Amino acid sequence: MPEPETSQSAVPPDPDTPTTPEKPAGLVVHLDQIRDNPKIFTGELPPEALELDSLDGARNIAPIAYDLRITIAGEEVLLQGSLELPIEFECVKCAQFFKTTQKAASFVRSFSLSEVPEGLDIGPELREELLLTFPTFPQCSPTCLGLCLKCGTNLNQNTCDCVTTKEDHRWSALDSLDLGEKAQE
Ligand SMILES: [Zn+2]
Ligand SMILES: [Zn+2]
Repeated sequence: MPEPETSQSAVPPDPDTPTTPEKPAGLVVHLDQIRDNPKIFTGELPPEALELDSLDGARNIAPIAYDLRITIAGEEVLLQGSLELPIEFECVKCAQFFKTTQKAASFVRSFSLSEVPEGLDIGPELREELLLTFPTFPQCSPTCLGLCLKCGTNLNQNTCDCVTTKEDHRWSALDSLDLGEKAQE
């Protein structure tokens, strides 16, 4: 029912009425609509909708591309899909931000219908799927050289003169091993 346009004058504002904080809209799927037909959703979600807009060590978090299918099979609700989130992480070694895309591909989650009588709130599920893909120690490249511990020079971009210590000789022996993980670019 649309809101009736009756005058509210008879009802004074009640200070005890909680002002319910607005939930991000549109992420609760009402299952009665999909009893007989799987529902397929594709599109983009703003990062705020999954509370992914302000994460430590990340920036330029772009809209999340989603491709989802929700099916009811017997008493079970299946959420299947894939997600893509373009994002920039701060490299733990050189402190530069680098672009990447986090992909949660082909995930499946199931719920029993009795667990989600009001409808399935897919927001927390999608958020968790994406967070599971996040690196614990983001690194711009497997071969990132990091910062010089003495002068702070980014050793991916420059060299400095602090590198001739005994310890560095030990590492240079390691450097001569070909670990087969050279960056492609
Ligand atoms: Zn780096
Ligand atoms: Zn240095």
